[in-house]
Amino acid sequence: MFRINDNYTKLPASYLFSEVARRVNAYQEAHPEVEIIRMGIGDVTRPLCKAVIDALHKAVDDEADSATFHGYGPEQGYDFLTGKIAEYDYQRRGIDISPDEIFISDGAKSDTGNIGDILAVTNRIAVTDPVYPVYIDTNVMGGRGGELLPDGRWSNIEYLPCTSENGFVPALPKEIPDVIYLCYPNNPTGTTLTRDELKKWVDYCRTYGSLLLFDAAYEAYIREDDVPHSIYEIEGAKEVAIEFRSYSKTAGFTGIRLGYTVVPKALLGRDSEGDEVALNPLWRRRQTTKFNGASYLTQRGAEALYTEEGQSQVKETIDYYLENARILRDGLAAVGYEVVGGVNSPYIWIKTPGTMTSWEFFDYLLDRYHIVGTPGSGFGPSGEGYFRLTAFNTRENTLRAIERLAGEGKNI
Ligand code: PLP
Repeated sequence: MFRINDNYTKLPASYLFSEVARRVNAYQEAHPEVEIIRMGIGDVTRPLCKAVIDALHKAVDDEADSATFHGYGPEQGYDFLTGKIAEYDYQRRGIDISPDEIFISDGAKSDTGNIGDILAVTNRIAVTDPVYPVYIDTNVMGGRGGELLPDGRWSNIEYLPCTSENGFVPALPKEIPDVIYLCYPNNPTGTTLTRDELKKWVDYCRTYGSLLLFDAAYEAYIREDDVPHSIYEIEGAKEVAIEFRSYSKTAGFTGIRLGYTVVPKALLGRDSEGDEVALNPLWRRRQTTKFNGASYLTQRGAEALYTEEGQSQVKETIDYYLENARILRDGLAAVGYEVVGGVNSPYIWIKTPGTMTSWEFFDYLLDRYHIVGTPGSGFGPSGEGYFRLTAFNTRENTLRAIERLAGEGKNI
């Protein structure tokens, strides 16, 4: 009889969003007259910009003509897109990344999850806590989690708490990990790290030979000068870091799917003999074997972002979300909540009042103000006592949510 991968059975079912939906549906059924404002899910709400839509239409027409038809493309992405990424996202910011260091994919979830394929099962992982759950779950699937402890942590994973006590800035790990995941601007807290703070991580990885997996899915939301858009803005990062990018929150590609991963040629790991091995060809081998390329249509759509109109149109959409974020952040602060995020990020992270748990605050907001968010405890043990709201909503709903909250003041 064949055996399954036991690691999958170690993973607890993720009840977070289904439990949110269950409670919201039950509440709506009991109170059909109430208009609920949903600020829980991290999906965009604005349509694709015109430059992308035009490019998608044109790409569809290409597929209708044998002279311009495209079947299988290069697994690592078309040159027309990797060239634009290298130029716009890196070289124009003074970062020397070449197109053959860029791998196009169907999104950052796949790549942050799949990267473990080229890493030894013996590597010790460190993550910030709270965290985007994909980093942990995929390492558990790959056999790097150890055992699930009663407090919700995994025995082989080092958790780096990010709470109001440390200003949401993780301390450098006590035990030296082999692989460190950082996501900035952060999901779920919406906080960022400055250039000096990121330099500490790059230096740490250079000193101890750790690999830095840097998730920059929310890079496009950065508005402050001292917050790097890419880990490669930090000197020496090309020797220690892989960077993940996504068009999901940047350009509304959550439905049509596209992202990319940068694996610099200067990045070397060691094999079991202790010999140095470059990661770029390993990831190329992994992708060309297990992935058959993102669609021609989507890549043409993304190419259109690297034009003057494309850049200004996506900026307009992101500015819209950021204004929602500002309204939420300022409005919540004005009625006495402790909030972070929402400046270089679409996420607002709220400290629950008093001793309320994340789920108690969920029920309180739903029942009293008819507002839905995400309990922080769903993102890791250090998320307990916090709550996430997102700016992915209409301006009207955002204003209405704050009116409801301000109408009564922070009343507990
Ligand atoms: N990384 C982080 C931190 C995210 O929050 C998300 C989506 O919510 C992703 C990656 C996934 O991005 P994609 O849609 O490109 O798979």
